[in-house]
Amino acid sequence: MILILKEDTDNSSDEYRQLLDFLSNLKNVESRVHHERGTEKILTEIYLVGDTSSLQVEDMESFTCVDRVVRVSEEYRVLGRHHDDKRPTHFDYNGVRFGQDNLNVFAGLCAVDTPGHVEIMLRALHEHGQVCTRMGAYKPRTNPYSFQGHGKQCLPYVFELAGKYGIKVIAIEVTHDTHILEIRQALEQTGWPTGVMLQIGTRNTQNFELLKATGRQVDFPVLLKRGFGITLEESLNAAEYLASEGNRHVVFGLRGMKTNMGDPHRNFIDFAHVPVVHRLTRMPVCIDPSHSVGSREATPDGIMDIFHVTAQGVIAGANMVLVDFHPVPSKALVDGPQALHMDELGYFLEDIQIARHAYEQRVTLVQAHLAAKTRMA
Ligand code: PEP
Ligand code: MN
Repeated sequence: MILILKEDTDNSSDEYRQLLDFLSNLKNVESRVHHERGTEKILTEIYLVGDTSSLQVEDMESFTCVDRVVRVSEEYRVLGRHHDDKRPTHFDYNGVRFGQDNLNVFAGLCAVDTPGHVEIMLRALHEHGQVCTRMGAYKPRTNPYSFQGHGKQCLPYVFELAGKYGIKVIAIEVTHDTHILEIRQALEQTGWPTGVMLQIGTRNTQNFELLKATGRQVDFPVLLKRGFGITLEESLNAAEYLASEGNRHVVFGLRGMKTNMGDPHRNFIDFAHVPVVHRLTRMPVCIDPSHSVGSREATPDGIMDIFHVTAQGVIAGANMVLVDFHPVPSKALVDGPQALHMDELGYFLEDIQIARHAYEQRVTLVQAHLAAKTRMA
């Protein structure tokens, strides 16, 4: 059960104390208080865990500081959508909105290699009005002898260049909790010129200690990639780990599944799950066409598979696109063959807009259809 308190409830007020006293006397019920700091107001939610079946919604609503009460099912308590659940399906970070109702593109380098390449990428994004990017510093590699990423050493110049080109959010994968500290230190050292979205890669979706550590901090939102060999439910539970530890600014990433059935794509594309994740949870959904397709193959009409699957995800309502670009793919240290080229950035963004516009038209259409049905009823 979730108690959503009235906006700006004062934690030192008598009503608030009365409520907490009442809750602390309940047997076999544990309460966890969560404060959500928005730009203008603070929202307080109290999660009641345990034997809540005997609690009546009306009784809980009779406390003056309680605005609404939501009964939750066992599944995805914090991030899930529950009956009569009007909790938000978006969050803001560093001036950028991440919601189930909007779309951000994170085009960038799979792996940072040189300051020159980072600058070409960020300048191009700026010229195309983009404020988000991806920049891999810590790379989880299949082969221990492959390039492992420049790690913390590249962070200061990445952050400074991001600030120079007005980039607000950089998705950076972390593979160990010490990386979060290194990112925070580099941001402090450079004066926080940009923001970071921590990325948990598909190989770490069920690294529960990493999830807990990442969930315990609330400075950075998190992009959690679905595990490439586990069920959707298991991956959604992994996202819930982040939220249960306190960080609910989570974007859920689809990046394809490992099975030969997807051949010749690098992974079997799972973007049909975009609407499913919207239905089950309140998380914005990201698609990664680069790591799911894995090549620059095109159809006879000239459209690359990466573009096709991006359009498929966006027309189904995807909220974020994570995509590899590189100024000189032949020199990329990781994933060069799947990288899009700089002169394709404008074209890619325009193609996305076509699909996004089509999605918005589909929403308008269904709304008109449902309104007509209600009138007839
Ligand atoms: C990546 O985005 O660079 C990456 C390694 O992705 P994934 O974890 O989906 O393989
Ligand atoms: Mn990659």
